[in-house]
Amino acid sequence: MSKQDVLERIAVEVHICQRCELWKNRRNAVPGEGNLEAAVLFIGEAPGYWEDVKGRPFVGAAGKLLAELLLKAGLSRAEVYITNVLKCRPPENRDPRPSEIQSCTPFLERQIKAIKPTLIVTLGRHSTSYILRKMGFETEGITGIHGKLYNGELFDLKVRVIPTYHPAAALYNPRYREALEEDFQVVKRELKLSD
Ligand code: URA
Repeated sequence: MSKQDVLERIAVEVHICQRCELWKNRRNAVPGEGNLEAAVLFIGEAPGYWEDVKGRPFVGAAGKLLAELLLKAGLSRAEVYITNVLKCRPPENRDPRPSEIQSCTPFLERQIKAIKPTLIVTLGRHSTSYILRKMGFETEGITGIHGKLYNGELFDLKVRVIPTYHPAAALYNPRYREALEEDFQVVKRELKLSD
C-alpha cells in the first residue's frame, strides 16, 4: 500500500470509529491533514469547536496562531503534517481522558509510522507526555521542558522531538506566546540543520 493509501485508510477508520464515547457527540472526526512527505509533524491535543464543524485540524483561533508561528519559522501548513492525540472533540473541550487517549492513539501511531517524520513538535502537555513516554522519557508537565530537543526512537523511527505549549494557551495568557515563538525558532533551526 502506498503512503497515501495507508493514510486514507486510517482516515476512513477514524471517521467510523466508535472505540470510545466521543463519537456520540461528534459532527466530524478529524484525522489530520498535510504533506505526506513532511519532515515535520505537529501533534495537538484534540479537535475543538471549529475543527469538529469542519473536520480539519487547527482551523479555529488556535489554528490561526499556529499558522502565524509556522510562517515565522519559515514553514507553511502545506508543507507539514498536522494531527491530534484525539481525533474527536471532547465535550466543552475538556481534557482528554486516559481511556480516550488509549483508545485513540493507535491511529496516531499508524500515522507516525506511515509519515516517518524526522522532527515532531508536540503542542501541549497531552501530546508531549504521550510521545515522550513512548520514547522512554519521564515527563512532568511542559513548563520545564518546552523548547528542548529530545533525540530518540519512536516506534522504531529515529526522531527528534520539540515539545512546546499548546497555541490555545497563548490565546488565554500572552506570556505563552513569547515562549511559543522562541520554541518555533528552535524548530526552524533544527529543520535547517537537517536540510
Ligand atoms: N486544538 C487542538 O489541540 N487541536 C486542534 O485541532 C485544534 C485546537
